[in-house]
Amino acid sequence: MASISRIAQVTMVAQSALYGSSPLDAGGADYVNAVVKLRTALTCDALLDALQAIEQSAGRLRPYRNAPRTLDLDVLLFGDQIIKTDRLTVPHPRMWEREFVVRPLSEIAPELVSQAQRDAVKGQGVWPL
Ligand code: ATP
Ligand code: CA
Ligand code: CA
Repeated sequence: MASISRIAQVTMVAQSALYGSSPLDAGGADYVNAVVKLRTALTCDALLDALQAIEQSAGRLRPYRNAPRTLDLDVLLFGDQIIKTDRLTVPHPRMWEREFVVRPLSEIAPELVSQAQRDAVKGQGVWPL
């Protein structure tokens, strides 16, 4: 989150608590999840460039070849824009299926999440850290 707050032309407006989750498919270590709210003059495309640059620098810390990726930064929403390009789909097409997204999102932006959306993902195994 510190790296995101240092992106030029990006201001961190809110950040959720950290939530643990278990990998949905295979085994492996638990994940740490959070959602942040940003204000920016960047286009969504330029924001994704900056997020992917942060992923790259975190990726360099991979302890061995093909180690699980260390960081995944997704754009969930970009204001009320609907974006469908080769490299971007916004809103994120799977965000409402994932408790590890919906729970931290509803913490920092409760107006964006209905009770039905919260209930739909309950019980996936997400806990506050
Ligand atoms: P998921 O989309 O299910 O969360 P993922 O995050 O594991 O999957 P990645 O391998 O990290 O998928 O990303 C694959 C590509 O998805 C990226 O290269 C990027 O161009 C594209 N992409 C499309 N929409 C978005 C978005 N809203 N946020 C981030 N990346 C996106
Ligand atoms: Ca993702
Ligand atoms: Ca991603």
